[in-house]
Amino acid sequence: QQQQPKAKAAAQPELIGITVKKNEDLSEWYQQTIIKGDLLEFTDIPGCYIYQPGSYRIWEFIQEFFNKRIRKMGVKNCYFPLFISEANLQREKDHIEGFAAEVAWVTEGGKNKLEKRLAVRPTSETAMYSFYSKKIRSHRDLPLKMNQWNNVVRWEFKHPMPFIRSREFLWQEGHTAHLTEKEAGVEVRQILDHYAAIYEELLAVPVVKGVKTVNEQFPGAHYTTTVEGFIPAVGRGIQAGTSHCLGQHFAKMFDIRVEDPHQQVEEGKPRDRLYVWQNSWGFTTRSIGLMILIHGDDKGLVIPPRVADVQVVIVPVGVTAKTTDVDRAKLYDEVKGISDKLEAADVRVECDMREGYSPGYKFNDWEMKGVPLRLEFGPKDSANGVVTTSRRDQDGKSTLPITDLAKSIPELLETIQADMLRKASEEYASHRKIIRKWEDFVPSLNAKNVVLVQHCATGACEDEIKKDSSGTVEGQEVDVRAPSMGAKSLCIPDEQPEEVKAGTRCINPKCDREAKMWVMFGRSY
Ligand code: AMP
Repeated sequence: QQQQPKAKAAAQPELIGITVKKNEDLSEWYQQTIIKGDLLEFTDIPGCYIYQPGSYRIWEFIQEFFNKRIRKMGVKNCYFPLFISEANLQREKDHIEGFAAEVAWVTEGGKNKLEKRLAVRPTSETAMYSFYSKKIRSHRDLPLKMNQWNNVVRWEFKHPMPFIRSREFLWQEGHTAHLTEKEAGVEVRQILDHYAAIYEELLAVPVVKGVKTVNEQFPGAHYTTTVEGFIPAVGRGIQAGTSHCLGQHFAKMFDIRVEDPHQQVEEGKPRDRLYVWQNSWGFTTRSIGLMILIHGDDKGLVIPPRVADVQVVIVPVGVTAKTTDVDRAKLYDEVKGISDKLEAADVRVECDMREGYSPGYKFNDWEMKGVPLRLEFGPKDSANGVVTTSRRDQDGKSTLPITDLAKSIPELLETIQADMLRKASEEYASHRKIIRKWEDFVPSLNAKNVVLVQHCATGACEDEIKKDSSGTVEGQEVDVRAPSMGAKSLCIPDEQPEEVKAGTRCINPKCDREAKMWVMFGRSY
């Protein structure tokens, strides 16, 4: 009697992959990609999401990377309460004005109405600085550098989008105090470099570093530096992380002062008391959304190797009805051997030994989850002493000799990482257009670009550009997802395309001021 072929004994489960194309319906594609890729789940509260282990692991890689760097700068991690008293929240005028519309309040505890309502932190400046004023007694207590990894709540009214714009999100917020403006300024920039490094070195996502215009800076800040990302599929910019110099605004409100250590005074006379210079800086789970939107394709996620929980999956192939049990066991042993070798070389590897699933099913499954490298291993590969490789970021297959996998696979993973960044960088660069005439401004935005223009750097002019670059009627609400939304200033890039010559007019034809600098404008998230 003929034996049932083992591999086909179980009914083949049907894999339902991503059913829409990225360039046809980005929002549906995004939703399917993050859910089927096991990164995130929705809840019954709009804007609040479940971070599954798949995405939380990426967050952990970011935490490890950033913690290592800030520890070297003398920053210590800590934790402050989730709630902020109304009195504290309101101490800095610009700050509360900027956040008022988004603050969530707790008004009841059990059955009792609270005497004083409590704010759920939208950020912790005002939660931390009363403590700073107690902690900082002398210039010897400076610099004070603390950071917390926590969640914040901003009751956003724009359409929420998983990772990108949520009502509760995870982030780190660093808060530091310094004796001088110069010292604070150096740190603002160091942090911005670390943020750029998280994007470029870990997530293979290119960013543009720059300074926010006054219109776009953090409420209560002296100035805000930023890393700006770009989503090619929609041609929109996105604020990817911000490092603020708060100046002395909060120090004045919270009375954080020290005696001037450098002042020469007559004996017995008190020295001047100086307000400290403060910084705050924040980086959120939005970064994961950027990574997904930039690298994902029609098959689903594409995760850069450095943040992939599984970097390599090995799938045994070529096992058929005719394969004897002995041959099958031998092949599986070899697969295990390859896996052990890679693990010993610090590669995060998994073997897919599931029975009842065809290799084709398994390939699609791991592709959807974005695993950067697949190794296929069958009797033919075994006979030739090779493994077959298939990169997630490219089509086609290749082979590698088994003997030096411990060296060649880590190298290949680094090549994939570098290629992903290079490809994304080229794409971003080709969509940053230098525009010299207003007539080219909106057409260039419509062609999914962000634009670099010579601008007067005044807020009123920015508002006008935003209005004139949108296709909406005044008074009507703008749907932020519509392509017709107006362009805002994204940043004043550190890397200016060229010097702005004296006498150059601002790009806005209605503005009669001189241009001061190149500003990057774009539709944005
Ligand atoms: P801020 O404290 O306002 O400077 O915000 C810090 C960073 O948080 C910004 O640079 C954004 O990248 C990110 N961000 C702002 N709003 C959200 C949100 N609703 N969801 C996720 N990330 C956000």
